[in-house]
Amino acid sequence: MMVPVRCFSCGKVVAEDYEKFKELAKRKPTNEVFKELGIDRPCCRRMYLTTVEFIDELMEYQK
Ligand SMILES: [Zn+2]
Repeated sequence: MMVPVRCFSCGKVVAEDYEKFKELAKRKPTNEVFKELGIDRPCCRRMYLTTVEFIDELMEYQK
C-alpha cells in the first residue's frame, strides 16, 4: 500500500503513525485521532486524509 513516508510540506515522518491512525479512525472522529497522535499541523493532517480516501476508493473496486 502506498503510504507517504514524510509530509510533503514540513517533512514530518507520517508513515510510522499511519497504522495507528487507521485503527483509531475506525472508532473515533478524525479530529480526535489527530489530537491523540499529536498531529497538529494542517499539512500533515492532509497527508493522512488523502491516503485514507485513496484506500477507501481502492476497496470499492475490490467489491
Ligand atoms: Zn506537515
